[in-house]
This record gives sequence, C-alpha cells and structure tokens, in this order.
Amino acid sequence: MTTTTTETTGRAARPNANDPRAALARLRAGFERDPNPSIEARRRHLDALERMVMRHKDAITRAITADFGGRSAHETLIAEIFLTVEGVRYAKANLAKWMAPERRKPGLAYQPAKVSVHYQPKGVVGIISPWNYPVQLALAPLTGALAAGNRALLKPSELTPETSALLSRIVADTFSDDLVSVVTGGVQLAVDFSHLSFDHLVFTGSTHVGRLVMKAAADNLVPVTLELGGKSPTILHDSYPLEKAAETIALGKWFNAGQTCIAPDYLLVPEGRVEPLIRALEAAIRKSYPTLRDNPDYTSIVNTRHRERLGALLADAGDKGARVIEVNPAGERFEGTNKLPPTLVTQVDDGMLLMQEEIFGPVLPIVPYARLEDALRYVAERPRPLALYYFDDDARRVERVIERSLSGGVAINACLLQCCVDDAPFGGIGPSGMGAYHGHEGFLTFSHAKTVFHQAKLNAAPLLAPPYGRAIEVLMKLLLRG
Ligand code: NAD
Repeated sequence: MTTTTTETTGRAARPNANDPRAALARLRAGFERDPNPSIEARRRHLDALERMVMRHKDAITRAITADFGGRSAHETLIAEIFLTVEGVRYAKANLAKWMAPERRKPGLAYQPAKVSVHYQPKGVVGIISPWNYPVQLALAPLTGALAAGNRALLKPSELTPETSALLSRIVADTFSDDLVSVVTGGVQLAVDFSHLSFDHLVFTGSTHVGRLVMKAAADNLVPVTLELGGKSPTILHDSYPLEKAAETIALGKWFNAGQTCIAPDYLLVPEGRVEPLIRALEAAIRKSYPTLRDNPDYTSIVNTRHRERLGALLADAGDKGARVIEVNPAGERFEGTNKLPPTLVTQVDDGMLLMQEEIFGPVLPIVPYARLEDALRYVAERPRPLALYYFDDDARRVERVIERSLSGGVAINACLLQCCVDDAPFGGIGPSGMGAYHGHEGFLTFSHAKTVFHQAKLNAAPLLAPPYGRAIEVLMKLLLRG
C-alpha cells in the first residue's frame, strides 16, 4: 500500500516545495502504483486530514490572524476549522454510498445486458486557492478529491504566506508526498501550476484569473472547476421586518469584514425603506462591534493594497455623487492598521466603480427599487452572481424570486448559510463559476463516472451486424413504434 499517511511532527516543508512539476511527478507515480484506493484507505486519508486540522487548529488560527493583521479567532474557528472538519466527517459517513456502483437500465433494445456506472478516481487533482478563507478553500476541495480516491497538489495564496507555509508543513507531516503535497510561491508559480497536466483542476479566486486558468488548462484539456466571485445581490421585500433583516445582513456582510465570496455585495431596498434600513443597519453594527480598531471580533482588511483598493472605490463613488456613511461606533481612528469601518453607500449608479466591481470588503451600497419586478430585472440585467439573498415570508413571492433569478445559490431570510450545508452543491454560474463541489457533488466532480456495459451470453447483438436483412428491419420497426 503506497497511499500512506504519516504521523510524524516537526518536519519542515518538503524540499522542492516550490517545484510543482516535480511534486506532480511524484503524485502521478503514486497514482499509477495504486489507481483505485479501497474505502478503508480513503477513510484513513480523510481521518488523517481531520486529525491534521484538529491538531493544528490553534496554529492555523495564529497564522491566519498574523496574515490578516487581525482576523477574528471565532471566525477562523467557524469558517476554517468547523466547516472543514464537518465536510470531512460528512464525506466519511457517506463514502460507502457514494462509491457503490450504480445499476442502470439497459433499455429494451439491449436486454438482457447489465449496465452500471462506476465512480473511479480521476488521478491527480490540482487545487489553487485564494487568501480570504485560506484553509477551508484549500482543504474542502481536498476532502472531495481524497474521498473520490485521488492524489492532490495544493497551491495556496501568496497573500497569506504564514498560513500557506503552515499548510505546507502540516501536509508534509501528515501525508506521503505521493498522496498530497503543497507548493508555495507567487503569481509565476501559480501560472506554471495552472499549465500542468492535472487530471482535474479546481480554481477558487477571481473571475479575471479564472479566465486565465481555464485558458491554461485548455492546452492539456484539463477539466476545470472554477469557483469565482461577483456581485451577490440582497433583495429586501417591503413586508419583511427591518431590524430582523438588518441583523442578518450585518452578520453576513461584516463576517470577515466582507471578504467573503458570497457576502452580500449590494442591497436592493424598497424606495421608502432606505433611510429606516440605514438606521437599522447602523444599530446592528453598533451592537455587534461597539469598537472596531482593537476589537478582535472585527477582522482587518488582508493588506494595504486591498485597503487602498476599497478606499479608491469609496473615493470614486463620493466624487460621483454618492452618500458615504461610515459606521464608526466609538469614533476611532485607524492609522497604522488595515481596518476599514463598516460603510454604507447610497445614491449610487452604474457609473461608479463600486457598482461595477466585486467589492470584497466591508462596504455596502444600497439601491432603491419601486416594484419587486424592477429589483429582479436589475439583477437579471447584470452578470449572474454567486449568491442571491431574499428577505420575505410570503411563500409564493419567494418561489417567484427563486424561479425568476439565476445565481450559484440562494438563501431566503439568511446570508451565507447556503454554502455551509454539506448535503448540497456549492458553485457558481456563468462569470461566478463553473461546476460545483461540497458533499456528494464534490465526490462526483472528482470522480470519473464510467459506464460499464456487461453483455449477456444470449443477446440480440448479431442482428445488428451486416449483411443487414429482414431481421434488423423487423427489429427496428418494433423498436421505433411510438
Ligand atoms: P485571485 O484570483 O487573485 O487569486 C486566487 C489564486 O490564484 C491565488 O492562489 C493566486 O496565487 C492564483 N493566481 C493568481 N494569478 C494567477 C494566474 N495568472 N494563473 C493562475 N493562478 C493565479 O483571487 P484572490 O484575491 O485570492 O481571492 C478573491 C477572489 O476569489 C474574489 O473574487 C472572490 O469572490 C473569489 N472567491 C471565490 C470563492 C468561491 O468559492 N466561489 C471563494 C473565495 C473567494
């Protein structure tokens, strides 16, 4: 058995930690030695992954906090540790069901053959991950890849170097280098990585880079799963209680300071309710974050470049006539930090960069609408988003919104939670992504669904062979009857 997991500690990251070609060669050789690990082996791999995360949860929290210059430890516990471990446990619990070949019907023409679909590992999966949830977004795809019996090579983000280095070390401590490896490095390494001939490539990141990754993968016809971003709308119906909506939206928006791919990007609010909603959001923010600067619950922007990018979006909106409302409950100053206070923006229009680019930070524009139809049209006229949130208790209207809108996922009267459920796929549509993973869909994404046709001893196949004559004509007539 070559698919070993090792349990030593204190080892440094592997030599060649930045040579993806060499790392892939080792993984490929491992796959060729053992192309279809047993259920017991897969369970061992998933056990090892779970233990790795649990054993190093404090180190992970410290590394992410250092990389962000302040990331809520509780948000790390929820979004990096809990979600990852829960996904691994769900995969272990369902593995036998997922791996079992499925019987299919051969249809009248091919009776009495037996037909089944076998789910086989594809080989080596490449995983490119972003900085915003640097552990979960590396290890959740790995969970699906290992459950499906693959080997994997990870390329975490260069913007969270401490976390990437830690991942590299703990993966080297946990898995043999022919099963899972991590390579670290900057954009050039990422570009080289995306050109390698993986058997599947998962990319989580921006839509812009997603396009480049898909082009690179096309050279080797590598199938891709693209988990991208975009502007996720949140629609509030006139009848929904404002305070309740504001508290839910505040949690979804300012978790990780808005640096979440499925965070509400902008709000669509009935015309007469914009001002009351602003007051309700301000109250919700003050309740959650009485202070910001040294408040460990309020996460920092990941680096100065991103803080300046957000500052430029706000300046552009302000210059073009928007009203910018900074919510700074304790009236603090933020020099020397990358913290950016929760900020609401009204009087926005399409000419502002804020309404063109994904915000990916604690800034929330509010767009008024007259009728629900107008709000739905506003969403439909724009690129298909990763998430859509709708606040309403009327079942028929909710159904209409779900049916009329296209987005990766939807949450009703909630934010973010659609992505946390293990028993449902997670993925985008159009510019917000392609393909899905999590749970069973993750297993399917990383498996090859192989049809096996098992011919019966007695069968009608000879009738299909030339020289054609009366028998095939009678058979076709029979089969083509309505
Ligand atoms: P990014 O696209 O800049 O980088 C993501 C990864 O791609 C990094 O590991 C980076 O090194 C690598 N990369 C950079 N240039 C590359 C290239 N030319 N070729 C190949 N790889 C390259 O994204 P980011 O700033 O790290 O993350 C933010 C974006 O990710 C946002 O748009 C957000 O919405 C999106 N996101 C999506 C999801 C999702 O699940 N759909 C989750 C988190 C973040």
